[in-house]
This record gives sequence, C-alpha cells and structure tokens, in this order.
Amino acid sequence: MSGVTPEGLELLIDAATLSQRVAELGADLTRDYAGRCPVLVSVLKGATLFLADLARHLEIDCEVDFMSISSFGAGGASGVVRIEQDLSGNIEGRDVVVVEDIVDTGLTLQYLMRVLEARRPASLEVCALFDKDVRRIVDLDIAYRGFSIPDTFVIGYGLDHDEVYRNLDSLYSVTDVNALVAVPQRYVGSFFPDAGGPNQSR
Ligand code: 5GP
Repeated sequence: MSGVTPEGLELLIDAATLSQRVAELGADLTRDYAGRCPVLVSVLKGATLFLADLARHLEIDCEVDFMSISSFGAGGASGVVRIEQDLSGNIEGRDVVVVEDIVDTGLTLQYLMRVLEARRPASLEVCALFDKDVRRIVDLDIAYRGFSIPDTFVIGYGLDHDEVYRNLDSLYSVTDVNALVAVPQRYVGSFFPDAGGPNQSR
C-alpha cells in the first residue's frame, strides 16, 4: 500500500518501521523463551495481524490461542469486560505471552491479566505493539513493547474504525475524528481505489 495519505489522517508509523520492530520483538522472545514453548494469547480482532507477523519471527516452538472480549462503559474504558470467546486450551503451568495490539488506559489488559493469572500459568507476560502510555490509568508491566504512541486515535495494522481499515499495512493517526465518525468509510476509496464491495453500501 502506498501513495498519498488522505486528508484527515497522518502517517504515524510506516510499514517498514513496523516490520522492523516486530522482527526485533520476535528476536527478544526467541532469546527469552529459548528451550520453552510459550502460548501466544492474542486478543481478537485487532492483534491478529501483529500476532501473525510476530509468530513468524519466533525461532522457537510456540502455540497460538485466541480470546475475544468486549468492553463496556463510555468508550469501552470502564474496565468492565466480558469474555465473548475463551481460549481453546488450558494454560495452567504454561508460559503465556499476551499479544496485544494497543494498550490505552490499560483497563482491558488489567482485567485480562487477572483472568489469566487465576488459571495459574507458569509465567505470564505482555507483548504489546502500541502503547498510549500517556493515557494509562492503571499500573501494568509490559515486558515487550513495540512503540510508545501519542494520545491520538489510530487505525491500521489490525486496528479498526467501525470494523474497517484493519488491513492497512501502516499505522495512521486520525486527525479529524469527527469526519471519520460522520462517514466511517471516508478513507476507503483513497486506500483502495477499486473498492466496490458490499461494505461500500453499508
Ligand atoms: P484500554 O482498556 O487499554 O483503554 O483499551 C484497549 C482497547 O481499546 C484496545 O484493545 C483497542 O481495542 C481499543 N483502542 C484503544 N485505543 C485505540 C485506538 O487508538 N484505535 C483503535 N482502533 N482502537 C483503540
């Protein structure tokens, strides 16, 4: 994906920089988990692109598992979370790495860590690609962190707005959030000029 960034968006982290950092995180995990077989727990849906790229940089045996959760309250930031789809496997006694796309207030991850900790894994760490640390309201230990990003709404590389834009290969900051809220599809045509699928008539 290339070309001019549409008005109302700002390119925050390009695809090459993302790719480089994901490779470094993979190398860190390869070193730290040598001789073990960690379970990479990914939170649907945003972290799936990151997980897929990260896993290919792990030069050790590993498993992947998925969880789906939903948050409630204003902007989803109440810390009240429900598990929509649980892990398929038992993590008791396992080395678990939670692979997260973005940590904002930290409330969602804090809840998730409590749930997973109660299942008595041998170890439990977090690998988060994007960290909006200026917005953090709970204390969290993020052992593996990709990028610290500013307090801005971002889309791309797994992160959506209204379920679209996850497949952008770079990370974009939305400078005009109101415009995007008013017309969620407004940038689709700029990124995908040939778009004309069913979403276009949503
Ligand atoms: P937290 O509980 O840390 O406040 O929120 C974490 C969740 O909020 C993330 O997993 C993600 O789903 C969503 N989120 C937070 N910031 C952003 C953002 O800038 N863009 C997108 N697309 N989602 C975000």
